[in-house]
Amino acid sequence: MDRRKLLKNLGLGAVGSAFAFSNDSMAAGLNKETKGLPPLKITNVKAIATQPYGTELVVVKVETNEPGLYGVGCATFRQRAHTVVSAVNDYLAPLCVGKVADNIEDVWQMTYQNSYWRNGPVLNNALSGLDQALWDIKGKRAGMPVYQLLGGKCKFAVDTYAHAGAGTKEEVVENVLEYMEQGYRHIRIQLGGYGSTALSGEPDFKRNGFGHKDDNVYSPTLYLRETPKLFEYVREKCGEDVELLHDVHERVQPMDAINLCKELEQYRPFFIEDPFSPENMGWFELLRKQTSVPIAMGELFNNPHEWVEPISNRWYDFIRAHISQIGGITPAMKLARLAEWFNVKTAWHGPGDTSPVGHAANAHIDMAVWNFGIQEAAKIIRSPDDRVLSIFPGMPWVENGFMHVNDAPGLGVEFNEKEAAKFPIREVQLNNWTQLRKNDGTPVRP
Ligand code: MG
Repeated sequence: MDRRKLLKNLGLGAVGSAFAFSNDSMAAGLNKETKGLPPLKITNVKAIATQPYGTELVVVKVETNEPGLYGVGCATFRQRAHTVVSAVNDYLAPLCVGKVADNIEDVWQMTYQNSYWRNGPVLNNALSGLDQALWDIKGKRAGMPVYQLLGGKCKFAVDTYAHAGAGTKEEVVENVLEYMEQGYRHIRIQLGGYGSTALSGEPDFKRNGFGHKDDNVYSPTLYLRETPKLFEYVREKCGEDVELLHDVHERVQPMDAINLCKELEQYRPFFIEDPFSPENMGWFELLRKQTSVPIAMGELFNNPHEWVEPISNRWYDFIRAHISQIGGITPAMKLARLAEWFNVKTAWHGPGDTSPVGHAANAHIDMAVWNFGIQEAAKIIRSPDDRVLSIFPGMPWVENGFMHVNDAPGLGVEFNEKEAAKFPIREVQLNNWTQLRKNDGTPVRP
């Protein structure tokens, strides 16, 4: 339904004169006429998986009883993509068909509690696909981009950071300088895969026939020794005009993480991310007493218990939640509002395993919330290839380090199902970056 027709049905007259009505007459019009407005019903919910590059993406499409009016949402959990597809098609679809698409909060709450056991990554992603699609539909119904529905613009665009990780510190510096030239003001520096420097040669666990052939090795000692040297080198070569970010990726022991943060303080990092795994949340109080380095936390969070108490105790400075992993835009807005009152800023996870629809959801929230901190922008957003662009026309884009969304109603991203079908996801999913062990074979938790 176009905006003109919607306003007419709401009793607000023609678009041009709608806002000339007094508040009282608007309220009267709404009270009198809303009953007569036919509710928009959900007629279909389906998950579509596609893999135009190395990562399995899952998108949920919600159709309505208004011909041509549909929404899309991100439900990408690449490590368990097939399971999310089943959660959407086998459980959410029968539950949601016939519900009123306008009532996002009601649909979210009823779907959230329907499984009884909740707050897990698979069901949260399914819920996110549905929730984001309903916000997309509401935007299209209102004739507004989603950020307008969330309160309107609070900034002209979304500042992002790029990844300058590489195998050596010289290569990292090269990458940082290149990104600075492209206009990025915030850059993440890492040595090797998420800070790990693989032990040279074959690890002892492999020589002794332990583990699986695809397992990788991680040396916390090398990582802890090399990371401060990397910071020192980058500051020396790239100067003070760039903000440096770093991800510990939860892989070291709590005391080692605390020592590392203290050591990195002198290089003025913008933030140090995920110093502890979610299993080690109890160490934050000690960390805060030991160092003033800004901390970002939470890309692995799924459950509100993981952020309500820590935020109210001001245990970290940036909340890094992955929006599809916490259930969509609806819970993310509540989280952002909670964080505002404790001066915790948003830094939503924005990796390659988020679909362009999910990146758009990140950006619409970023545009509207005051306590925005920074947005991670994966390569698929910074420099998308033709496959991605053909599947997701209208996706956000980055210029001079700023991410932009278009002003089309809704999330502004289309989803070309025909193109997506050309790139089906793998039957078997492997994920060997989480198959990580110490030299003696002990599993390392990411
Ligand atoms: Mg991270």
